Amino acid sequence: MSDQYAVIGNPIGHTKSPLIHVLFAQETGQDLTYVPIEGPVEPEHAFAETVRQFIAAGGKGMNVTAPFKLQAFAMSDERSERATLAGAVNAMKFEDGRIIAENFDGVGLVRDIEENLHQPMADKRVLILGAGGAVRGALLPFIAARPGELVVANRDVEKAKALVNQVMAGDFLRACEYPELESMGQFDLVVNATSASLTGQLPPVPSSVFSPTGSAYELAYGKGLTPFLRLARNAGVQGVADGVGMLVEQAAEAFAWWRRIRPQTRAVIDRLTVPLA
Ligand code: NDP
Repeated sequence: MSDQYAVIGNPIGHTKSPLIHVLFAQETGQDLTYVPIEGPVEPEHAFAETVRQFIAAGGKGMNVTAPFKLQAFAMSDERSERATLAGAVNAMKFEDGRIIAENFDGVGLVRDIEENLHQPMADKRVLILGAGGAVRGALLPFIAARPGELVVANRDVEKAKALVNQVMAGDFLRACEYPELESMGQFDLVVNATSASLTGQLPPVPSSVFSPTGSAYELAYGKGLTPFLRLARNAGVQGVADGVGMLVEQAAEAFAWWRRIRPQTRAVIDRLTVPLA
């Protein structure tokens, strides 16, 4: 019987993960199945029960998406450092009766920016907008990329400060409010990790943060030119990208973790890309 994997979320109809993992399995010659599971939101313990049923039926691993990333964290036996900082889990491996938990969102994001988009962050000025789950998952991989300056701006600035203080990485990392960005000059890379684009909104970021020779990255994907990316383009930024590469790269990290073989990502990213127009 093929090894079984799944992605669990609610709703789950939109997920691209089964397609991505089936393409990875074909390319690497791995014998596996990968299915979407619509997890129960209520009662609270029903999520853990669903995961345990999947394990009992022989499941080897699972991706986790909204709204279950925190519950997956809570039920895990072992957690990586980045999953611990995030307080959230997006991939689980089931081994010897234990649930081992990871968070590959941030490492997938950094890999997309540095490898696919050829924008190394070392010594650069990097601005991240937002301080939610995606930023909590991304902060350690961003720090590991050794930017010269890393600024986290959030509407609720206390959330950004708490996150930055939790890491205590050094002077190059700081939290701020949006109005402070007016006087902070241009950044080499501006990353929109807020959920504003999901409702067609724009975070209150001044266009003065963009550099025409720099880049702008939107975590949301499949939405064309979001208000954030449009603002960046209007400020003269040539290098704009959305989060489809992040989606595929985090999947590749999970696949390599489960199967000990790294799939190629380029063709899959191209297949899923919706042009930015
Ligand atoms: P969360 O709900 O955890 O956090 C949302 C963040 O967005 C908060 O910092 C919130 O600020 C901020 N925010 C929401 N609306 C606005 C607004 N109108 N203006 C300014 N800030 C706003 O979301 P996630 O961190 O999980 O997800 C963030 C984005 O990343 C989403 O678009 C999601 O789809 C995307 N994503 C993409 C992935 C990929 O693979 N490409 C993977 C994971 C996420 P405040 O705290 O002040 O309320």
